[in-house]
Amino acid sequence: MPFDPVYDRVSRVIPPIEWASMQDDVRAINALKRDRRAVILAHNYQTPEIFHGVADIVGDSLALAREAEKSDADIILLAGVYFMAETAKLMNPGKTVLIPDAAAGCSLAESITPADIALLRQRHPGVPVIAYVNTSAAVKAASDICCTSGNAKRIVESLGVPEVIMLPDEFLAQNIARETDIKIIAWAGHCEVHERFTPADLINLRESHPGIVILAHPECPPEVVAVADFSGSTAVMADYVATQKPARVALITECSMSDNISLLNPATQFVRPCNLCPHMKRITLKNIRAALETMQTEVHIDPAHFAPARRAVERMLADR
Ligand code: SF4
Repeated sequence: MPFDPVYDRVSRVIPPIEWASMQDDVRAINALKRDRRAVILAHNYQTPEIFHGVADIVGDSLALAREAEKSDADIILLAGVYFMAETAKLMNPGKTVLIPDAAAGCSLAESITPADIALLRQRHPGVPVIAYVNTSAAVKAASDICCTSGNAKRIVESLGVPEVIMLPDEFLAQNIARETDIKIIAWAGHCEVHERFTPADLINLRESHPGIVILAHPECPPEVVAVADFSGSTAVMADYVATQKPARVALITECSMSDNISLLNPATQFVRPCNLCPHMKRITLKNIRAALETMQTEVHIDPAHFAPARRAVERMLADR
């Protein structure tokens, strides 16, 4: 096969025979981006041919929204799930935001509605509502401030109150509650990827891979986080591997994260006890190409939700 600089980046995780079926779409997408003045934002859970082959900006949902703000592109294509595309639109109201499959949802975002928040506020008058970024724009609009898994503790403690409502991820709320004196009222939403990990999975890993460093995402149940060596968001995990350079590591999170990060850290051995996110995997090279060709599906936010949802995100961003 002639030298292909894009394939060179992913050749350790994609066999040549698979790349042969991908390279036409990769070339077409990169040409379409130039023609349309578009950028592709890809979440850490996207597959390597997307993450390393066509994306311009990669990271967690917050990093994607922040970086997109700085771009002078006319079009943002979000290779991720719907709430991320909404957040990109909130932060970039003048740009066209596309998502290749509008059905790419999230079990956390779907676990709560604005009506649920109204009930929580009735039950807990005066208690501020912190919405994880993994929520719809409508839910963000009904909240006081957003948080990510990376800044949740700081946001909880920044409000100067003894008690907060933190939703919708029950496990993230429980994990943060162990680190702070602020009382946290949680909601019973779960990430369908992270809730499936068990402490036994991690104990088995340690037994079969002596010396392994285990990093767990804080959307995992607290009993899983308790037996990990370290817990942090996808951005924090990537940073940990890059700076600490463990000889052998396991990332307790979505499958593609290890593939993507392993390509950037060839000296580290990755053991991959992963679970797939079916929503993230709705995004493919084929539908990215189709989205740029047809300019579908464009993301719009209900005007009634736009300003309060953006305010909740901006309040979080103001707390650095
Ligand atoms: S991995 Fe979990 S939190 Fe992320 S999009 Fe999938 S279901 Fe939602």
